[in-house]
Amino acid sequence: VSRSHPHVVVIGAGFGGVRVARGLRGAPVRLTLIDPNNFHTFQPLLYQVATSGLEPGDISFPVRSLLRRDRRARFVMGTVTSIDLSDRSLVVDDDEVVTYDFLVIAAGTVSSSFDIPGVDEWSLPLKTLHDAVTLRDELLTRFERCSRAVLSGDAVDPEALSVIVVGGGPTGVEMAGGLHELLDRVLRKDFPELDVAGAGITLVEAAPRVLTPFDETSSAHAALALRRRGIDVRLGVGVDHVTEESVVLADGTELRAGTIIWAAGVTAHPLVRALGLPLGRGGRVAVQANLALGSHPEVFVIGDLAGEVGGQPALAQVAQPAIQGGVHVAAEIRRALAGEVPRPFRYRDKGSMATIGRNHAIAEFPGGRRFHGRLGWLMWLGLHIVYLIGFRNRATTLVNWGWNYLTYDRSARTLLSRR
Ligand SMILES: Cc1cc2nc3c(=O)[nH]c(=O)nc-3n(C[C@H](O)[C@H](O)[C@H](O)COP(=O)(O)OP(=O)(O)OC[C@H]3O[C@@H](n4cnc5c(N)ncnc54)[C@H](O)[C@@H]3O)c2cc1C
Repeated sequence: VSRSHPHVVVIGAGFGGVRVARGLRGAPVRLTLIDPNNFHTFQPLLYQVATSGLEPGDISFPVRSLLRRDRRARFVMGTVTSIDLSDRSLVVDDDEVVTYDFLVIAAGTVSSSFDIPGVDEWSLPLKTLHDAVTLRDELLTRFERCSRAVLSGDAVDPEALSVIVVGGGPTGVEMAGGLHELLDRVLRKDFPELDVAGAGITLVEAAPRVLTPFDETSSAHAALALRRRGIDVRLGVGVDHVTEESVVLADGTELRAGTIIWAAGVTAHPLVRALGLPLGRGGRVAVQANLALGSHPEVFVIGDLAGEVGGQPALAQVAQPAIQGGVHVAAEIRRALAGEVPRPFRYRDKGSMATIGRNHAIAEFPGGRRFHGRLGWLMWLGLHIVYLIGFRNRATTLVNWGWNYLTYDRSARTLLSRR
C-alpha cells in the first residue's frame, strides 16, 4: 500500500462506515476500516435471530469480503479506544497508534439503561449480534430447564416462561411480535409438557403510545395488532427498577417474568464523549452541513452518532441517515482531494417501517402515504431483502423466511453454548 496516498480511517463497519468504504473504492486514498467485529451486522433483523427466525450468518457479512476488490483498503479488527483530534491520530485496543488525514467516526450507539437500577444486571439488551444470540440461547435454555423440572416432578413458577419487553419503539414492537410467533407456533409444540399458552408477553412503554416516531393511527393499529395476539401492552408508565425476576413500574405495579428484554433506548458511543466537542441530546455530536466537525474539517461524524446537521435538528437514529451520510462523506473526501468546495448533506426521507409479525407491518412514506397489514408486510419484506448486504445473505434469508412462512416453524434453534 503506497504511503503517498492520503490515509482515510473509518471507525465502525456499520451502515455508515461500510458506505464510506464502498464510496471510496478506486479513489486515490489508503483506507483503513476498524471494527471490533470482523463482520457487518444488519441490525434491523437482530430480533429475527433472537426469536429463532434467522441464523446469525443470515444477517451478518464479512468485512474483508467488502474490501476485497480495493487493493488500497485494509481492515483492522480492533476497538478504537481514544482519538486525538489535534494530533490526527487514534489508538486501537489501547496500544496501536494510527494516524490519519481524514477520519470518519461511525461507531453508532450503545444500549442505554438510563441509570435505571437493575437494568444492567437483570435484563438482556438487543443491540449486537452477540446480544441476539445470547437472548435466543437464554430463552431456549430456560424452556429446556423448565421442561426438565416438570419431568422430574418439580414445581415450575408459572411466570418462569413469561417475557417482558421494555420499550415500545420499533425494536420492542418487532421483538414482542416475534416472541409471540416463537412461543405460540413453535415452543408450544416443542414443549407439550409446559404450559406455554399460559406464558405471557408484556410490552412496557413509558410514552402514551407505541411506535412514537410513526403517525398516531399507525401506533394505534400496532397496539391493537399486538393486543389481538394476546400481548399485554402497558402504555404511559415507565420502569422504576428491575429485579432478577420482575420489572417494577413507576406506579408501583410489579410484573414478573423469567426473561426481561431491554429495548428502551440507546445512547451515543462513549468514544465521542472524551473529544471535548459540544454534545446534543443522547450524546450525539453536532456537525456542519457537510457532516464534518466545525473545528476539524478533516473529521466527519455520521449515522447514529451525528446530532444536529448544520444547525438543523438531528435525524432519526435509523439506517437511512447512516447509509446516505456514508455515501455523502465518501463524495466529500473525493471533493476535498480534488480541491473542490464542500457540499451540504441533503437527506432524502424514504419512509419508516415496523413489522408486528406474519402478514402484518406498518409502513409510512413521505406525503402521508401509510400502509398497514399485509401490504405493509410485503413492503417490509421486500425492502429488508434489498438492503441486506451480500447476495448469499439475501438468498438464505429469503429461503429461511419462505420456509418459516410455509411451515409455521422457526428452525434457527441450535444451542451451541454449553450451560
Ligand atoms: C435491534 C435494532 C433494530 C433496528 N431496527 C431498525 C429498522 O428496522 N430500521 C432502521 O432503519 N433502523 C433500525 N435500527 C437502527 C439502525 O440499525 C441504526 O440506525 C444504524 O445501524 C446506524 O448506523 P451507524 O453506521 O451509525 O452505526 P452501526 O450500524 O451501529 O455501526 C457501528 C459500528 O461501529 C462499530 N464500533 C463500535 N464501537 C467501536 C469502536 N470503539 N471502534 C471501532 N468500531 C466500533 C460497531 O461494531 C459497529 O459495527 C435498529 C437498531 C437496532 C439495535
